[in-house]
Amino acid sequence: MNSLFFGPNGSGKGTQGAIVKKKYGLAHIESGAIFRDNIKGGTELGKKAKEYIDKGDLVPDDITIPMILDRLKQDDCKNGWLLDGFPRNKNQAIKLDEALKKESMALDIVVEILLDKEIAKNRIMGRRLCENDNNHPNNIFIDAIKPNGDKCRVCEGELSSRADDQDEYAIGKRHSIYYNDTEGTLAAAYYFKELAQKDSSIKYITIDGEPDLDTVKNELISKL
Ligand code: AMP
Repeated sequence: MNSLFFGPNGSGKGTQGAIVKKKYGLAHIESGAIFRDNIKGGTELGKKAKEYIDKGDLVPDDITIPMILDRLKQDDCKNGWLLDGFPRNKNQAIKLDEALKKESMALDIVVEILLDKEIAKNRIMGRRLCENDNNHPNNIFIDAIKPNGDKCRVCEGELSSRADDQDEYAIGKRHSIYYNDTEGTLAAAYYFKELAQKDSSIKYITIDGEPDLDTVKNELISKL
């Protein structure tokens, strides 16, 4: 199964994606996490990406698109993949669609998580990342997933926050890219929504991202 996951930053997209990845044994390809790993490792790619990420801007398409299209060709993607954070604009959507057609790769499911911008912003500012697994849910503003003191609620790992999650201006910029439905991320989602309307082999699912994680997860699993 090959799938795309859309949702504003703070919608639980990464957490829900991790659940689906596990259930179906998919390769979870998270563009933001690839950049963060490169920044941590001090690679050339990381150095280039950091200046954009810190400001809340998109890393340019000529860096991001080949990086993701190459990743889809790796061995662990043969049994299916889940793309999370890509495509992020209409151009990336068009290039992905072209590449899938060229490689005769099917797209099976597209998930769009719906969430109001203000709620998403508060969630982002409260979230904390576990050193052992970024998908361990920890958020200081959400009772159900409050960290255990200053440690991860799942594994007691050390927690940190992302610099771009604590900067309201950068969050605003990331959201204005996401909610832009002419060129931005919603335009990319709607590009595939239109394809799904013409091609019944692609299923387009919308999920309400406002309830707690378990409710969102159950809605998602029931619609897959
Ligand atoms: P995320 O972890 O998805 O919030 O991504 C963190 C940051 O990485 C974004 O704010 C962008 O700067 C960059 N990034 C992630 N995915 C993409 C993408 N598909 N295109 C361009 N930049 C991206």
